Amino acid sequence: MNGYPRSLQKLIEELSRLPTIGPKSAERMAMHLMRAVAGPQAKALADALLAARELTRRCKLCNNFSEAEECPICQDRERRDKSICIVEDPQDVIAIERTGKHRGLYYVLGGKLSPLEGTGPDDLPLAQLVNRLRQESLQEVIIATSSNREGETTALYIKQLLQPLGVKMSRIARGIPVGSNIGHIDQATISEAFVGRREVVP
Ligand SMILES: [Zn+2]
Repeated sequence: MNGYPRSLQKLIEELSRLPTIGPKSAERMAMHLMRAVAGPQAKALADALLAARELTRRCKLCNNFSEAEECPICQDRERRDKSICIVEDPQDVIAIERTGKHRGLYYVLGGKLSPLEGTGPDDLPLAQLVNRLRQESLQEVIIATSSNREGETTALYIKQLLQPLGVKMSRIARGIPVGSNIGHIDQATISEAFVGRREVVP
């Protein structure tokens, strides 16, 4: 035998295709899951993976993850008619919610404009965003895309796209370390960036 059995090799291969998991980590994870005592954990992991894929979908209003057609935030009447915060990823919603500084709605783009990766405006749900803003009477649109070049490009594009709607727009303050994704930075920094947001002047 010059390698692991085929089924185990397949597990290592699949694990190593996950983000940030290199071949060595994948091998270590597989070895852990194959230990006799890890049997229940391996089963729980497989079940959780399938359940998350089957039960979780995108909220039809904000594009965030949800088990219902509309997520709990969109269903919360208290959050209507206030502000909507535009973010790149579902992790950003969680990070901003933890700060308690935003009591309005969210809109999840599911990415950002990136010419290098071939992500253009048509690849993001922007038409859906405009429709939503037409239907809600919101006081403010807060653009909370990341502070790297692609995040700034996305913010600028959204600003121009939404300008005709005549709604107040603001961009979360600098102070977010350059190059950061919102979901990866600490709570205090996000809070500060939120409180110090600046109105985007046309
Ligand atoms: Zn929603």
